[in-house]
Amino acid sequence: MEAIARSVPVGVVGAGTMGAGIAQVAAVAGHEVRVYDAADGAAAAAVETIFAHLARAVDKGRLLQEEAEDAATRLRAVGTLEDLAGCGLVVEAVVEDLEVKRALFAGLEAVCGPDAVLATNTSSLSVDAVAESLAAPARVAGLHFFNPAPLLPLVEVVSGARTDDGVADLLVATAAAWGKTPVRAASTPGFIVNRVARPYYGEAFRLLEAGSVDAATVDALLRESGGFRMGPFELADLIGHDVNLAVSRSVWEAFGRDPRFTPSVLQERLVADGRLGRKTGGGIYGGDDAPRPAPSTAEPVASGPTAWASSGGFDPSTPGWRAGNGDVELRLTDGRTAAQHTGGGPSTVVLVDLALDRAAVRLGIAAPEHAPKEHVEAAIGFLQGLGHAVTVLPDTPGLVVARTVATLAAAAADAVDSGVATAEDVDTAMRLGVNYPRGPYEWGSALGWQWVAGVLDALAAAEDPGRYRVSPQLRRRALEAGGRRDDPDVAGYDDLARRASEAMWAADAASQALGMTVEQVSLGTAMVRMRVRPDMVNGHGVCHGGLIFALADSAFAVACNTHNRRTVAQGGDITFLAPAHEGDDLLAVANERYRSGRTGVCDVTVYRDGATIAEFRGRSREIPGTLVPDEEET
Ligand code: NAD
Repeated sequence: MEAIARSVPVGVVGAGTMGAGIAQVAAVAGHEVRVYDAADGAAAAAVETIFAHLARAVDKGRLLQEEAEDAATRLRAVGTLEDLAGCGLVVEAVVEDLEVKRALFAGLEAVCGPDAVLATNTSSLSVDAVAESLAAPARVAGLHFFNPAPLLPLVEVVSGARTDDGVADLLVATAAAWGKTPVRAASTPGFIVNRVARPYYGEAFRLLEAGSVDAATVDALLRESGGFRMGPFELADLIGHDVNLAVSRSVWEAFGRDPRFTPSVLQERLVADGRLGRKTGGGIYGGDDAPRPAPSTAEPVASGPTAWASSGGFDPSTPGWRAGNGDVELRLTDGRTAAQHTGGGPSTVVLVDLALDRAAVRLGIAAPEHAPKEHVEAAIGFLQGLGHAVTVLPDTPGLVVARTVATLAAAAADAVDSGVATAEDVDTAMRLGVNYPRGPYEWGSALGWQWVAGVLDALAAAEDPGRYRVSPQLRRRALEAGGRRDDPDVAGYDDLARRASEAMWAADAASQALGMTVEQVSLGTAMVRMRVRPDMVNGHGVCHGGLIFALADSAFAVACNTHNRRTVAQGGDITFLAPAHEGDDLLAVANERYRSGRTGVCDVTVYRDGATIAEFRGRSREIPGTLVPDEEET
């Protein structure tokens, strides 16, 4: 598809920040541009501003003097909407108010010729809603630029349900001809960038609300370990908490208050207090002149003469490796806590937070709460010896970077699965729109979807099952990918876990009689499935709660026995959230939450089509004996 010809005039309505930027882009690309604004003098003022911006672009070497002069001659402010007659494309960038935009589009429809394409730069409104009452909604699409439009390359071309495919194709070609990188998105809340980016802020605020990590440390880890250009708090201070919160709220509302998008209470309070960020002289941090607090950093530790061996090579960007010195073993976090990894073993497992690559300046680590001090110091000394600054974090699921990247990858996968955009476009949008160091879909694929789902499951068990629920499609990806199994060491570990749980399962006639099947097992986790048969429902067609309890309890038992120790239940509580009916396919996902010596706590969530219908917590105790011979443990 060809772009709109340069000879075709372009109209821009709304001469604020975005309208001025878009008009500049179109004029530099060679179009005659007519700028209209309802406020007296606003369009003329915007044209003056664009002239100044063009001059600055020349000074900075981004534009030749004659290109700027030519662009300036093509720009003009117009006084009425009728002056836009004859434009082949009109881009609307007025206030973010549905009724104002609807009225404007009705006016444009009356003024512009039948072939003119009408585009909206809305960030959060539905293209369908904007075009709803028009006679020809097929010619309306979103053309979502990012601020500042002349500098940022990304443009989301947004198709509503009634947008003509040819119109979207034309806008993609035109945005490319204007020097932009277009991506295609369906008109769903937040399109690509504003939807997929929510966890970047959301997870940071949750960490701060929990009081476990301070803001400067979160920012430093995401920058110096995760490779993000700016930390979430410094970025939100720059954007403005009012703007950031408004996007969060609009996505949350548009998704029917889905807990995945629940806005932060802390950010609400900042906005209520007028602490909007840099523009008000302070937000999370003080104003521009206020000294920035230093991130938490471990003091240098003189590393002793211990020899460290590693399997899979130490690499904080890749799951599956291990490095140890006999007393301490380092592993990349997989969502479970260091206490869970350590179990009752004599050596201490210290977890390393995810990093973008080996060159990370800083690494976060976490050890079990009561780990011997010398073990933690040995881990710090080892990492400092490799040249990393080290931040010691509390032993919480997913630490800082891993939980952020896992939730971003899940949001990217969800956008792809919901048909918002292709994986490639999601990644392009996040790299160009918000400067992410890697596309989150590609990042999730590289880490393994099993790892991503594992981190989410651990967060679901520890914090909020609704917010961190794994979608059925992501669960399927995780099952298909197998992820961690590629690593021979982890595979051996998981293999023992699987054989131990199989040995236990073989003797569990009751669960088998109910038609349960074990779907997946690895150390401390298990998934068990059950279909609700006609003989499992009561007179109202509702599955007996006792059978859902039995399903959760079976998953709990399998997960506990993955440690290859005979385990019995000490107690279990279940909360039913929604009923199950005949024919429903139920999936119980068990994750060990805590383990110490011979006792453990395991959380189980029972899902139906990705929705939580029951939550179960079980406490277990080991009794002497193994399920399969211990010597096979290697
Ligand atoms: P702004 O407040 O800077 O400018 C809006 C302009 O629209 C004002 O000059 C106003 O006088 C004019 N206006 C209002 N009603 C009008 C009407 N009926 N007819 C003609 N002109 C009218 O706003 P902005 O930040 O440039 O945002 C404009 C649009 O772009 C919004 O939909 C916003 O969501 C979207 N957007 C903003 C950003 C951003 O970072 N600011 C980024 C992407 C998209």
